[in-house]
Amino acid sequence: MCNYKDKRDILSMSLAELEGICVQNGQQRFRSRQVFQWLHLHHAVSFSEMTNLPAQFRLYLEENFYISLPKIEKKLVSAIDHTVKYLYRLGDGECVECVMMEYQHGNSLCVSTQVGCRMGCRFCASTIAGFVRNLTPSEMLSQIYTSELDSGREVSSIVLMGIGEPLDNYENVLRFLHLLSSPDGRNMSLRHVSLSTCGLVAQIDALAREKLGLTLSVSLHAPNDAIRNTMMPVNRRYPVAQLMDACRRYIRSTGRRISFEYAIVAGVNDSLACAQELAARLRGMQCHVNLIPVNPVRERNYRTSQRNVIERFKRDLEQRGINVTIRRTLGADIQAACGQLRREREEGSGAD
Ligand code: SAH
Repeated sequence: MCNYKDKRDILSMSLAELEGICVQNGQQRFRSRQVFQWLHLHHAVSFSEMTNLPAQFRLYLEENFYISLPKIEKKLVSAIDHTVKYLYRLGDGECVECVMMEYQHGNSLCVSTQVGCRMGCRFCASTIAGFVRNLTPSEMLSQIYTSELDSGREVSSIVLMGIGEPLDNYENVLRFLHLLSSPDGRNMSLRHVSLSTCGLVAQIDALAREKLGLTLSVSLHAPNDAIRNTMMPVNRRYPVAQLMDACRRYIRSTGRRISFEYAIVAGVNDSLACAQELAARLRGMQCHVNLIPVNPVRERNYRTSQRNVIERFKRDLEQRGINVTIRRTLGADIQAACGQLRREREEGSGAD
C-alpha cells in the first residue's frame, strides 16, 4: 500500500529544515520558502505543480520526498446542518476521521491525532479497538488541506477532538501546531485552535510552558474519582485533584481560561449532587463548562439524560457562578461522534 519507502515526508518539515535541503542541493535559500508555500498555501499535491522551481530541483524533490495526502475513503454530508464527515485512508491503509462543522463565525474542523487510542474512555468509540499508531504532523495537516480542497470551504478554526489523545502524541502535535501557525505557511492563529485532553497531567504542564495561546479543553466528565474511575481509566493515573492542580497551574502560567468538557450520562453523572460537587471543584477558576449530551455508542450502554435534566444541571451550575453551555449536536444523522465511522469500516459492516 505504502509506496513512500525511502522517501522523506516533506509536509512535516519546517521552513528551516527545507532551507537546509535547498542549501545542500546547491539551491538558493529563497527556494525553501517557495516549496513551503506550495505545500502549505497552495496545497500542491505533486512536485510537478511547483512550476517556479528549476526543473532539476523538482526532479530531485520528486525522487527523495513525498507529499503525504490521504484518500477519501468515505464522505457523509448531513442533510440537517451541512456537517461533513470524512473517513480518510492514510498511506499505510489505516483510516482516520475528520469532521467539518459550520458555525456562524466560519468552518471548524475536528482533526484526529492518532489511529485508535489507548486511553480507554468507556463512552468513546475511538478507543474500543485500541491503539494502532501516532499520526505524523503531515497527516494532521493534510486532513485540513484535503477537507478544504474537497469541500471548497475554508477552515477557520481547528479542534483537536477527533480520534486519539493529542497529548499522547505530544511531539508530533506540537510540530503540527508550529507548522499550522507558521507565518510563511498557513499562518493560522493558535487562538483559533482548541486542544482536548483526557487529562495527562505531565503533558498539560509541558504545554503550559509552550505558551501557545490555544484553548485547552479538559475532558472531565465527572466531579469526583469514584465516578470518573468508572468512565475514564486515565483517572487512576491522574486523579481529579491532581488534574485540577495542573489546570490551575495552566491557567496561572498562560492567562487562558480552560474549557471543561462534561459528557452527561443518564444515571451516572447528571444528579444535583454531581452539579454541586462540580461547582465546588471549579469555584474561583477561570473556566467554562461545556455540557455534551453523550452520544450513544453501539458497544456501550451509556445513554444521554433527558433534555430537562441537562437544562437543570446547567441551571444548578450557573446558580453557583459557573459559566456553562450545552454543546449543539451537529451531524446527528451522519454519526459525527468520534470513532464511529472508523469502527464500522473495521468491522466491515459499513453501509454505503
Ligand atoms: N482524547 C481527547 C480528544 C478526543 S475526544 C479527549 O479525551 O479529550 C473529544 C471529546 O469527545 C472528549 O471530550 C471526549 O471525552 C468526548 N467524547 C468521546 N466520546 C463521546 C461520546 N460518545 N459522547 C460524547 N462525548 C464523547
